[in-house]
Amino acid sequence: MSINFILNNQQIKTCPLCENAVYKFQKRSHLIPEWMYKDCYDDKHKAIRVMLKDQHVNKAQKGFYAEIICGDCEKESQVYDHYASLILTSHAQSTNGYKSITHSVHKEYSRWENIEFKKLQNFVYACLLRTQLFEQREGKELIIPKHFNAIRKLYNDDSLINDYSYPIITIKIPEDDKFRNIVILPFRKKVAAHHVIEFSSLGFCFWIFVSSHKKPDWVYNLRLNKNGGMYLIHMNYQETGTFKDSALHIGRLAKKSSIV
Ligand SMILES: [Zn+2]
Repeated sequence: MSINFILNNQQIKTCPLCENAVYKFQKRSHLIPEWMYKDCYDDKHKAIRVMLKDQHVNKAQKGFYAEIICGDCEKESQVYDHYASLILTSHAQSTNGYKSITHSVHKEYSRWENIEFKKLQNFVYACLLRTQLFEQREGKELIIPKHFNAIRKLYNDDSLINDYSYPIITIKIPEDDKFRNIVILPFRKKVAAHHVIEFSSLGFCFWIFVSSHKKPDWVYNLRLNKNGGMYLIHMNYQETGTFKDSALHIGRLAKKSSIV
């Protein structure tokens, strides 16, 4: 994907995210933002990395950084990461970003309104895209390249408002769930026979559906909607794996590694 050539004795690279020609990449781009590790620092580096290709699961270092995108892409993604931090972290409740959202909480779900759709969508997509680029650099395969390219296009083009091609489902993990504060870096699993990229931290678990065929109705009903609304399903972390055994697999490993 990346094309390198020499100009005036300087190597020109192609940024795999914006596809611009650049002299150098950002030295340390995070795969998922630093704030997502916030409550997970104190106790035994509660981060788990699941390799997309072979479902290999292991403990990860606290912050996960790599030289994968250009400085402009890094700056842009920080805008989305910052917005997400305003609405998702527990200390964000005094910010205007948080206050502008209407939250209604029910027993089995919450409903949020007035979300800045494109910013939250791009926060989620950026975590997926950066991790994919990192995995690719390590010799692992991309999720089907046409999906990667399509998600990258949605991410890069502000005029594309599309909440149905790669819908995002958000799960809220209850306060007393022992998995709540484990960072799980993006990995691939199957939900209702569809490929999904999942990542989670700080009590939120995100699913991005990455298949070409029509998703189940419940996905369209609950997804992050372009009008700024979304449902958050209240579910224990291990329940999220009821469709497939990924969550149980992670659970077993976490136990074995004394992460929990
Ligand atoms: Zn770039």
